[in-house]
Amino acid sequence: MSLATGSDEVSYNRQKKEFNSIIDLVMTIVSITLVMRFVLVIMDPVFTDVQQVGSIEIYSAFRPLIDILYSVTDILLAPINEVINVFGHATGLFPNDIFPSMRSEGFGLWLQERLNPLPPFAKQGIAEYVLKSPPSTWMPGYFNWTALIGSIFYLVIRPVITDTYFTLRNWWQNVLVERMYVKKRQDHYDEILEKKNLELQNALSQGKFLENEISQLSTSVVTDELTKAYNRRFFSEKIRELFNKHKQSEQIMSVMMVDIDHFKKVNDNYGHLIGDEVLILVSELLRRLTPESGYCCRYGGEEFAILMPKVSLEQAASNAELIRNEVLRLSFPSAPDLKSSISIGVATADFSTTDVKRELHHYEDLLKYADDALYEAKTSGRNKVIPKRV
Ligand code: GH3
Ligand code: MG
Ligand code: MG
Repeated sequence: MSLATGSDEVSYNRQKKEFNSIIDLVMTIVSITLVMRFVLVIMDPVFTDVQQVGSIEIYSAFRPLIDILYSVTDILLAPINEVINVFGHATGLFPNDIFPSMRSEGFGLWLQERLNPLPPFAKQGIAEYVLKSPPSTWMPGYFNWTALIGSIFYLVIRPVITDTYFTLRNWWQNVLVERMYVKKRQDHYDEILEKKNLELQNALSQGKFLENEISQLSTSVVTDELTKAYNRRFFSEKIRELFNKHKQSEQIMSVMMVDIDHFKKVNDNYGHLIGDEVLILVSELLRRLTPESGYCCRYGGEEFAILMPKVSLEQAASNAELIRNEVLRLSFPSAPDLKSSISIGVATADFSTTDVKRELHHYEDLLKYADDALYEAKTSGRNKVIPKRV
């Protein structure tokens, strides 16, 4: 990060100027204080002289004001005095014996003599005061010394203060900017993450929706819409698959052909809607009583076929009997007086037998047996189960 852009540089220079003017203001206050002190120190001996010559009233009137000004300037000059004390006296850089040269009857006294509109007796008092005073209170010289060191100090350290301040300030600004960027980046990442999460959720729910659709679609592809039994297409594929599998593994399988008796009459007497209801309820019963490994299919019209893998003729026949009896007990809400019956032809192929394997080439050969059995049930009076072993 750098303050490289034009507008940044302009504002940087402006701030530098402002900072310098603050330092200048401080130094102006110091300078005014020094001048105040200067005036004060000149005036003090004058007033002391005034006291000596008997004008005690004037002295008493001004003394508190002078004391206050002393205190104020003491406070304001304290930092510079401290610098002089520490770097001057303590280090020996500006030893005390330099001060005598400062209190040469030089500038301070010279100025005092010219500025002080005092009668000669008073001037004598001033000279005496100055010469007798210890160096630390010899203020005109001390003032010059202080002002000189203060000015040099100020000139030397002003760029240092400015540079240090701006170095620290830039560093801190960079830290803040860096932090801001880190936070912004983090926020940005959070935002992206949230968005991606949302997209993922959407995709997942979309996926679930599609999964449902597919499962519904695949169900509807193999299911008969009215009776919810497997449809004819499914039946054909399944029986081919089961037939080949059982033949290959030399296992037993059974097929049941179910036909509703005199169904045409139901339609004729009760109407097609009732006929549909009969189909639906019979199908529901057939599906409920189909063995778990079996498949209940609508073969066409009012005819159903139930595929029963690994089921013997005896088991299939007794299952068929159960189904036949249950159908007899069925009642139809829309036609309470209607009773229905079914005829069932059962065919079983035991592929462990060589003859069976030889005789049955195609699943339709097996179906033919079941069809024949059904035909037999129909022709021998209906409402019957005829089992046929291949
Ligand atoms: P059988 O005892 O010899 O089987 O006599 P049936 O009357 O049951 O047999 P038939 O083949 O003469 O008549 C079958 C009738 O089933 C004819 C047809 O209108 C009806 N049918 C076929 N599919 C449907 C269907 O989806 N709904 C309705 N309501 N009737 C159907
Ligand atoms: Mg029929
Ligand atoms: Mg029929």
